[in-house]
Amino acid sequence: MQRTLILGGGIGGIVAATVLKRAMGKDMDVTVVDKCPYHFYTSSFPLLMIGQRKPEQITRRLDGLERKGINFVQAKVTGLHLSENSVSTTKGQHAYNYLIIALGVEYHPETVPGFAEYAYDAYDFHDLLKIRKALSQMKKGRIALFISSLPYKCPPAPYEMMFLLDQYFRQKGLRNSIQLALITPDFSPEPLAGPLVGESVRKMLSEKGIELRTEAKVLAVEESAVVLDHGGKVPADLLLGIAPHWTHNVLRNIGLTDGDGWVTADQHTLQTGYPGVYAIGDVTGIRLPVIGVLAPKAGIFAHYQAEVVARNIALLATGQNPTFRYTGKGA
Ligand SMILES: Cc1cc2nc3c(=O)[nH]c(=O)nc-3n(C[C@H](O)[C@H](O)[C@H](O)COP(=O)(O)OP(=O)(O)OC[C@H]3O[C@@H](n4cnc5c(N)ncnc54)[C@H](O)[C@@H]3O)c2cc1C
Repeated sequence: MQRTLILGGGIGGIVAATVLKRAMGKDMDVTVVDKCPYHFYTSSFPLLMIGQRKPEQITRRLDGLERKGINFVQAKVTGLHLSENSVSTTKGQHAYNYLIIALGVEYHPETVPGFAEYAYDAYDFHDLLKIRKALSQMKKGRIALFISSLPYKCPPAPYEMMFLLDQYFRQKGLRNSIQLALITPDFSPEPLAGPLVGESVRKMLSEKGIELRTEAKVLAVEESAVVLDHGGKVPADLLLGIAPHWTHNVLRNIGLTDGDGWVTADQHTLQTGYPGVYAIGDVTGIRLPVIGVLAPKAGIFAHYQAEVVARNIALLATGQNPTFRYTGKGA
């Protein structure tokens, strides 16, 4: 039996595993490796923040994949040995015929002085529960959400969070006592979506009285302020941050990544420079076919890339031509 090893049980990894297993059944051993026993559904994180989702509604045990015939190994990936078709983990060595790298990104709040001490991580499941509690106790004051660096995953998420905070405090009758500020290094909201979207998001923020600071570089976080370059400071009582993030060290220096550390892969097939080794989702630095810009780090792209890779592996494993192509589809 042939074996596909999938590194990461996030959105890309789960979709790839499910599609491949469905296509090949008993003819393919499909194994997912993830250091965490749970899958967290990040698209619902903004709703978790304001109490419209409960943690158990957006969390699933990854060993539940075994019901579909997919093996799950809870272990940390510690090394990729691509010329030997094997991966080392904290639970031993795993051989493969096909490898799908879907390890997402790693957050580095420690690279922003004061982040860990004074801000909550707005992209972290556990911190979101603390934010939810802090919001429920807040009667007045100022909330600032800052994006530490580019690129960051899910470009719309911070805007969604601000609009939800606006709605949350309006419904509580406290909006007049709460100020909201969003700080971004981008020159405009969601530049990838084009100037019309940027303008309309700006207008919506302004109509709702949400302050927007663009082209703002965050230097540090203090007890009650975000420190920007050129001497700027945004005071706040509750600080929410998106930490800098990049690919895991385990992927570096093995001929997989570009100068910025993202995994290089063919934009249509998602195959890396190593035959039978694919990369999908947030780890990749691929350009979107047609418009040529870097693919945003969003689950929808990871999902469609995973489908292409899984279907092509199913064809290859049965001696057929891998004809599926990723088109840049997303929404
Ligand atoms: C607040 C928020 C809201 C979002 N909303 C949306 C949305 O509405 N729509 C959308 O399309 N996208 C959204 N996203 C983005 C989306 O979550 C990511 O783009 C998507 O999860 C990327 O999928 P992935 O498979 O590449 O990586 P991930 O889903 O991040 O999965 C990576 C997996 O690898 C595991 N892992 C990492 N390192 C190791 C290791 N060394 N060993 C073993 N396992 C490891 C991790 O535990 C994780 O399970 C949102 C993100 C956030 C934070």
